[in-house]
Amino acid sequence: MAGAKKSPTKKLFLEAVYKHSSEAIAILDRQDHIVELNPAACKLFGATKKKLIGKLIGDFLLSSIDSQQVQKRAKIQLKQPQGKTKVAEYSLVKDFLPHHNLLVFRDITDSIQQEATELNLHHQRVELFAEVTLKIRQSLQLPEILQTAVSEVQRILQADRVLIYQVFSNGTGMPIKEAVLPDFKPILGVEFPEEVFPADYRQLYTQGRIRAIANVHAPDAGLAECLIEFMKEWQIKSKLVVPILQNTKSSSKGEHLWGLLIAHQCQAPREWTEFEQELMQQLADQIGIALFQGELLENLEGIVAERTAKLRQEISERQAALRERTKAETALRHSEEQLRLIANGLPVLIAYVDCQQHYRFNNQAYQTWLGLSPEEMSDRHLAQVHGKDEYQQISQYVATALKGETVTYERDLVLQDGCVHSLSVTYIPHLQSQNTIQGFFALSSDISDRKAIERMKDEFLSVVSHELRTPLTSIHSSLKILATGKLGSLSHQGKRMLKIADEQTERLVHLVNNVLDLQRIQSGKINMNKQACQTKELMVEAVQAMKNLAQEQGIQLSFKPNDLIVWADRDYIVQTLTNLVSNAIKFSPPKSTVMLFASPQKNRDRVLKDTASCSISSSGETPPTLFRASHLAEALPHRQNQSISYITFAVQDRGQGIPQDRLETIFERFQQVDSSDSRKKGGTGLGLAICRQIVEGHGGQIWAESGLENGSTFYFTLPELIQ
Ligand code: ADP
Repeated sequence: MAGAKKSPTKKLFLEAVYKHSSEAIAILDRQDHIVELNPAACKLFGATKKKLIGKLIGDFLLSSIDSQQVQKRAKIQLKQPQGKTKVAEYSLVKDFLPHHNLLVFRDITDSIQQEATELNLHHQRVELFAEVTLKIRQSLQLPEILQTAVSEVQRILQADRVLIYQVFSNGTGMPIKEAVLPDFKPILGVEFPEEVFPADYRQLYTQGRIRAIANVHAPDAGLAECLIEFMKEWQIKSKLVVPILQNTKSSSKGEHLWGLLIAHQCQAPREWTEFEQELMQQLADQIGIALFQGELLENLEGIVAERTAKLRQEISERQAALRERTKAETALRHSEEQLRLIANGLPVLIAYVDCQQHYRFNNQAYQTWLGLSPEEMSDRHLAQVHGKDEYQQISQYVATALKGETVTYERDLVLQDGCVHSLSVTYIPHLQSQNTIQGFFALSSDISDRKAIERMKDEFLSVVSHELRTPLTSIHSSLKILATGKLGSLSHQGKRMLKIADEQTERLVHLVNNVLDLQRIQSGKINMNKQACQTKELMVEAVQAMKNLAQEQGIQLSFKPNDLIVWADRDYIVQTLTNLVSNAIKFSPPKSTVMLFASPQKNRDRVLKDTASCSISSSGETPPTLFRASHLAEALPHRQNQSISYITFAVQDRGQGIPQDRLETIFERFQQVDSSDSRKKGGTGLGLAICRQIVEGHGGQIWAESGLENGSTFYFTLPELIQ
């Protein structure tokens, strides 16, 4: 300060500032020797002014002054006695006086230390909080979380009691978790009286307010009398209460007061620091989160449990279904095996042909009968297996089966034994849903033996009949001559006997003729002489032939004349009509009428279908012959490419009628509804069988309809000739 001329006041002022400044001020010469320093500087460097003057400033510093730090503050560490250090901020004023610099230090050791302490504290807090949060989060079980929270808070805050108080929906509540030092009474499970936890408190807590009361007995605590009593009872001197708010899906407001996290100090009052309050607050928040997660978890567990139950159910259902399927498959395999065994054991050819006409299955008999192994047939086309010629013969039946109609036909075949065998073949269509045809089953049986027997029977009948006919004819003639009386008159008794003999002979002749007729027609030995025939003429002829018989029986014959023309053998059709009319007369009561009429076939489809299938519906001994519309088309003149129409003849009577169950069988040989018929009415039981053979020989169909007591109507169809 030497040489400076100042006013005395200013000088005093500057001296006072210099002396009392809290900042350390030192003046240095060019070589950094201390020239002058104020008391604060002495204090900072820890020595008296005397000891410091003349010393190098560097002796007191841990680093050197940055001479560039002019007018700027910088930090520097100062040496202290006993190895201690201080931290100061300094600023340098260069050439503040000629050849002198000014250094101003400010001691910031305390503030740095405070900062460090605060940082440390903060760090500690974060660590503690992280530790507790981790512990809470490590568990998914709410009771465990709550217990951890109270124990940890008690440990960290060194509180005498920490508890979690749950608020129930009716406003009451009780401590459900507690960590309490052994010296103090546990409060767990004690329901707080209403006045201890009134509604306005609840309101405040719901808003998230914390209550920290250092001394519950201090007048400024403002606690109600009853509350103070309660505090006394539970030795509470100081308390910190933090709300636990739960974010629920169910709460429309988003958060509701689930409970309270409470710390009690029982030994002495306690000031709750900000840190402690914050810690409690953050833990309460964590509990709130845990509660929310717990609720989610509960829901999730519910969903998982439900889903698991469903899955279990599904699995067990699937397992049951699988078991069922396996069982069904085993049963199927078993039954397939059985079927295969049966199919292989049967003396019948059994095969399955798909809609592409490929063999899909065939039984063992194919191998033994035809010498065809399964490999030679499986998946092969019918033409490949049987050859072109044979395939041509059977293809029409295959086509019929693939149209959905059952068809039966016969054919002769040379089997592996080198002999010709007669086979009866039936194709049964395999229909699946929506009536789609998947293929057909082919069943062939060897009917050679049956055929041979039939042939023998027919031959026998033929021979016997022929042998009978000649003597019978002469017996009949002789009887007729005797009856004339030209050879002498007979007694009354003798005439009666002669009449019986004549009638019976006539019957026998009739029978023999019928047998021969039937045998001839069946054997196909006769040629039908088909031609255009007027229906009217046919009916007139039949009526003429039966006129006498009708008169004898008192029956009226009538017919509706019309001009339809059929393609038929006149004699055979007249024979058919005569036969039917004779039956009608026989079975009609006197004075009734027998009607004949002919009309165009109304339901042609039915007839065509029935005609095609009549071969299998017939149960006659005689193997049925198949007549198809296509054959007729070829037989009828000028009919190519035209569909065939039919004329239906009908003979109707008012007689005794025919039971429903006999309507089919009466067309078989020697079948009569009543066995006494032949005795009472005469007849052989062959008439209708002959009629059927004749009608079917024309490609038509014959059937009867009857209501008992309502009479019967016999119908037959013949192809119409349209000119
Ligand atoms: P039959 O020579 O015995 O008449 P058919 O073959 O002509 O032989 O007839 C067979 C049987 O059918 C008859 O014995 C009779 O029982 C029954 N029948 C045929 N036509 C009629 C009819 N119009 N009314 C009642 N029954 C009849």
